[in-house]
Order: sequence, then C-alpha cells, then structure tokens
Amino acid sequence: MRTRADHPVFNKDIDALMQGRDEYVDDRDPAALARACFASEGGDVLGEGFPRKLAVHAGFGGRPLAADKVGEHMARMLNIPRAGKTAAYVHVPFCESHCLYCAFFTKGYERKESARYADALQRELDLWSRTPLVRSGPVHCVYFGGGTPTALEATDLARMIGAVRETLPLANDCEITVEGRIHNFGPDKMEACLDAGANRFSIGVQTFDTALRRSMGRIAGREEILDALRRLIAFGQAAVVIDLIYGFPGQDMELWQRDLETVLELELDGVDLYQLNTFTNTPLHRAIEHGTLPRLADTGAQGRMYAEGSRVLDEARWRRLSSSHWGRTTRERNLYNHMVKGPAHCLGFGPGAGGTLHDSSYFVRRDYAGWLEEIGRGRKPVATLMLAPERAVLAKSLAQAFDVGRINLARLGRTLSLPLAGLAGPVTEQWARAGLLRIDGEWLDLTVAGHFWQVTMAQLLITFFNRTFQEDYTS
Ligand code: SF4
Repeated sequence: MRTRADHPVFNKDIDALMQGRDEYVDDRDPAALARACFASEGGDVLGEGFPRKLAVHAGFGGRPLAADKVGEHMARMLNIPRAGKTAAYVHVPFCESHCLYCAFFTKGYERKESARYADALQRELDLWSRTPLVRSGPVHCVYFGGGTPTALEATDLARMIGAVRETLPLANDCEITVEGRIHNFGPDKMEACLDAGANRFSIGVQTFDTALRRSMGRIAGREEILDALRRLIAFGQAAVVIDLIYGFPGQDMELWQRDLETVLELELDGVDLYQLNTFTNTPLHRAIEHGTLPRLADTGAQGRMYAEGSRVLDEARWRRLSSSHWGRTTRERNLYNHMVKGPAHCLGFGPGAGGTLHDSSYFVRRDYAGWLEEIGRGRKPVATLMLAPERAVLAKSLAQAFDVGRINLARLGRTLSLPLAGLAGPVTEQWARAGLLRIDGEWLDLTVAGHFWQVTMAQLLITFFNRTFQEDYTS
C-alpha cells in the first residue's frame, strides 16, 4: 500500500489543508477521508468555506520523464494521430513593463526582437507541421498569450497569426484569440490582427482606476483604455473581452463597483473576473513586506467582491460561462479557457509554452535565447515532459466541470466505469448543506460561494478519488 508521502498524484497544498483539519485521522478510513473534505457549516461559507483557498487551477500531478528519454517519447507522440478536441497555445514572452503583481514576467520588449521572434516561431511551427499528430484533425481554438503579444510590431503580429493559420489545420469556426494590453496597441496593430484572422481579443485591463493602475505598474490611464476599447469594438470583427482583477491593495468595494459599472457601460462581448494571487517572487509581495503598499484584501473581502461581481453581471443578464468568465453577446464563447481545463490536446509553441498530447504534458524551454538557439538548429526545445497519472481524464474532467459550475458525477462515473457519485456522496451532500452547491437529480450546481471556492473543491475531490482508488476502498 502506498503512503501519502509517495502518492504520485498528491498535491501538497491539499496535504496541508487536510492535515489542518481536526477530524482528519487516518487516510485509510474512507469516512475520515470524506470528512477531511468537508466545508465549514453554519458560518460565512463565502469567506471561510475552507481553511485555505487554492487558486489558479486544480492540478493532478504526473511523473516527470528523464531528460534523455524526452526526445524519443516526443517523436512517438508526433506519430500518433489526435482524436477529440484540440487547442493550440502560442507564447509571446515579451512585456513592455513589469506589472507589480506578476510572477510571469520573463523578458522586456525590444523592438528588434519582434521580427526575430516571428521568424523563429514560423520555424518552430514548421518542425511539426507535417506530422500525423498535427495533420490528423481540426484545431478548435488558438490562443496567443504571454507576456504581451500586442507588444509585437504590426507586421509581425500579422505574420505570427498567418503562420499559425497556414501551418495548423484550423477548424472552420476556430476561435483565434490575441491577448494584450492597451498600452502601445494602436489601430495599426488592431487592423493587422483582424486582417490576419484574429476573431477574439482578451485585453488585460485589471482595473480602470488610473491611480490604482499606476500603483500596480500599469501604464495606460482610464481614458486611454476606454478610447482604445471603443475603437477595438467599433471594428465589429471580433469578440472583445477584458480581464478585471479584484483584491488589489487599496482597492475597496467602491472602487470595485465603479469598475463593474464601467464594464456595463461598454459594449464588450465578455468579461473575466480574477482574484489577485500573490507570489513571493513578485515586486508586489516585496512592496507589501516593506510596507510601501497596504496589505491585500483577505479571503472574506475577496469573496464579497467576487459575489458583488457575480450579482452585477447576473442582474445585467450576462451569461455565466464559468466561475470567472461571463459573456454579454453570443460572440463570446471562451473556448480556449474551457478546453484546456479538460481532457483536450493542446499544441504549445513559443518559449515557455505548455502543451498536452495523448498521455503527456510538456513545456517548451523558457529562456528566450536558448529557445532561439535550438530552433535555429532545427530542434523543438522541450524542456520537461510529464507522463499523466493513471486517472488524468477523471481529474481533468472534474477540474473542467467545477470550473463551469455544473458537475454530474453519475454521468462521468458511467463514462469511466467508476462509482464516483456514490463514493463522493458524503462529501457532496455536506457541501450542499454548507451552501456551496445545490443537488438537482444527478446534477451538482455550484452556488456563488461554490464558484468562489471551486478550485479548492475540485482539488479536494480529485485528491479524494485518487486516495480512494489508490487504497482500493471499493473492493
Ligand atoms: S501581467 Fe501581463 S503584461 Fe504585466 S508583466 Fe505579467 S505578463 Fe507582462
């Protein structure tokens, strides 16, 4: 029997969470394991549903493959045709400034790198273009993310999008998203993206409040953002979606409500509401430690801001697409964000891009100079490759269902021939009592508090099933 310490798919965040529970006694006892997943009852479930809130997205682990085996394994993957849904992700590593809260800044933008990057990306795409893996079926969505793709020069933005369209077999209704920020994203770049075939923009606004923006290292002010968004919307050629963040230091409910009102005033196609996550390697963390910025909103305050965002958008009849995405028009489909949380393939290109193929996930080498060098030598620089755990489809399906907020364990169990609904019954019934979800026949529908805690809940259930099947309680 495996112990928790050598469990291959064990998440240490959940380990800490479970060990912090008084009632957690013995992980070989299924009732104790279920109790360890329980939420707090009778209090403020939105602010205090669990001892700790996991953020970003639910993980499911995997086994790293030894570096000397990676090339051979990738070669085998490339010869296996794909089936099912497929996304593509292209990473553009440059940013024009380092936003204080960001842990993903890798490289400042230099104009001279724009063409060089676009040339190298074309070569990277060419390396896989004729393989059975790439040619075997349609790609349903492409996401140009970063970094800041809109930092690139207009001609290179067009070349980058054109290269992907020519190289990958895109579905007729492929969603093609360009992520960006308003600073330095003028009409020439907007037109270049649209002419090349982009049909969705995801713009990182974060907040419209100029003073708050500047305190976080953002460059454009409120009026500049509004002008640029209206210009982008006026083209009428693509879905325009923005990101907002709640929980910045100094951002109170009034500022947040003003941001939400501004969203309603614009003719946007969609909006994403994200909680601020801080990482210890960010300038924001250091500024708070040194006392130059106030402390972050706590989980309770963040929960109230999230609930307010949900209320405002629901009252305005925006469609909830997931726990953090809303669409106002039918143009917004949110395909990429939805697909990559589930059991789809993802073809990753560019330095630092991640991908998922068949039974493996991989990361392309992150350092830009090293990526350029290897691409120049005609090699795709895969830095790490993980073999998926045995029940990856279960874990990904759960993460995706929780993200959407509608979970059907009975149906998923029938598909995977696993008694999921019965095993998890004590947990899901307690979550219903706590106010995190409603049970409607086979369906579990998350409440607003459930949407706020969904990553924690998904991760708990993934860990619960991993432990349960590992220990074989069902036999
Ligand atoms: S938030 Fe976006 S634009 Fe800002 S540093 Fe991070 S990746 Fe760059």
